Amino acid sequence: MSTFQAPKGTYDLTPPRSAKFLAVREAISAPLRDSGYGYIETPGFENVELFARGVGESTDIVTKEMYTLTTKGGDQLALRPEGTASVLRAALEANLHKAGNLPVKLWYSGSYYRYERPQAGRYRHFSQVGAEAIGTEDPALDAELIILADQAYRSLGLRQFRILLNSLGDKECRPVYREALQSFLRDLDLDEETRRRIEINPLRVLDDKRADVQKQLTDAPKLRDYLCDACKAYHEEVRALLTAAGVAFEDDEKLVRGLDYYTRTTFEFVHDGLGSQSAVGGGGRYDGLSEMIGGPELPSVGWALGVDRTVLALEAEGVELDLPAPTSVYAVPLGEEARRVLFGVVTELRRAGIAADFAFGGRGLKGAMKSANRSGARYTLVAGERDLAEGVVQLKDMESGEQSAVPLAEAAAELAKRLG
Ligand code: ATP
Ligand code: MG
Repeated sequence: MSTFQAPKGTYDLTPPRSAKFLAVREAISAPLRDSGYGYIETPGFENVELFARGVGESTDIVTKEMYTLTTKGGDQLALRPEGTASVLRAALEANLHKAGNLPVKLWYSGSYYRYERPQAGRYRHFSQVGAEAIGTEDPALDAELIILADQAYRSLGLRQFRILLNSLGDKECRPVYREALQSFLRDLDLDEETRRRIEINPLRVLDDKRADVQKQLTDAPKLRDYLCDACKAYHEEVRALLTAAGVAFEDDEKLVRGLDYYTRTTFEFVHDGLGSQSAVGGGGRYDGLSEMIGGPELPSVGWALGVDRTVLALEAEGVELDLPAPTSVYAVPLGEEARRVLFGVVTELRRAGIAADFAFGGRGLKGAMKSANRSGARYTLVAGERDLAEGVVQLKDMESGEQSAVPLAEAAAELAKRLG
């Protein structure tokens, strides 16, 4: 392993590709910011019980994927594997739910850590943008979140994604289904680990990716047949609102998702260009989570979209993001005097809000022009001793190749005018 290699399962974001990550975070959060969601930031680690209780003792995340550590003071902490439990904890700590303004709508963006088997689209450090709407049971809220995620992906230019939708029932009907499923599963030919899963979290067995397991599940009892009337009506309303908004979805009764705390609406965004790591985002309603972590009853709904996989999906679809060139003007001084003068012009341009850069390090014309080209700047400013003696700088349009002398005192204003 080279000295400079990032840890296994992680990678660095470096220019120019890193610009896509910023653009994706911006595009995903923009619809949220326009819809009443406020920004929240929580620590990168929490007490380990928060996730054990709030994600669920039977989930892969808690049993296999969590990075846990004991501090020098003896506290048991975990690097956050997901955002929902932390955001709910923080909302409870700050009493946001008592401000009398429900739902509490929050969005976040950050790094998450899971000890997984690294592969394309699956990393040990990854980034998500997420949204949570806390304290209200209203199918319009579930629909809102799905519509906003759809809007975010579309604004990026993504087209080959699909929305999978299901209802997991609630504390009335889910236990009945759970038992029916368990007795069905117990009669199947399954390995020891899966048999254990039947007892702890039988719904997860439906999610098993192995073909020999899936084959045996064809006649498994369907959650849909067990939904109580309230859950059915709720789900129909979510579906109707999505349809009215023109958002297409697929009913997927096998969709159970990894987290224990989901109730009723559950959904996933999958992209068809990503191979087996196809989920670019997912979420659902988690009416019981607050009580599970010791809070009051606060029915809530949320999602998290994976930034890494969204970037991979854009690349798979060949979508070129409309990223503005990071630099509009590049200044190339020839000689000491010109260096001082052009550095002054660059400072002036930047203060006027024009993205400008400078050939640092006193390089020759050829090398500096190469950097100007690479910067993507629309214009270069070149000045040598003779130009300064005449009180001008050479302004070159990098697209047309045209060059003209502009009075030094007017250079900044002229550029501002041309760049509109
Ligand atoms: P998967 O089934 O792929 O393991 P998940 O159900 O564990 O996904 P969530 O906990 O719902 O994923 O997280 C939401 C999103 O975060 C996922 O849809 C995915 O885009 C992204 N994500 C989750 N785990 C990883 C990872 N290890 N590396 C990169 N992105 C991830
Ligand atoms: Mg996972």
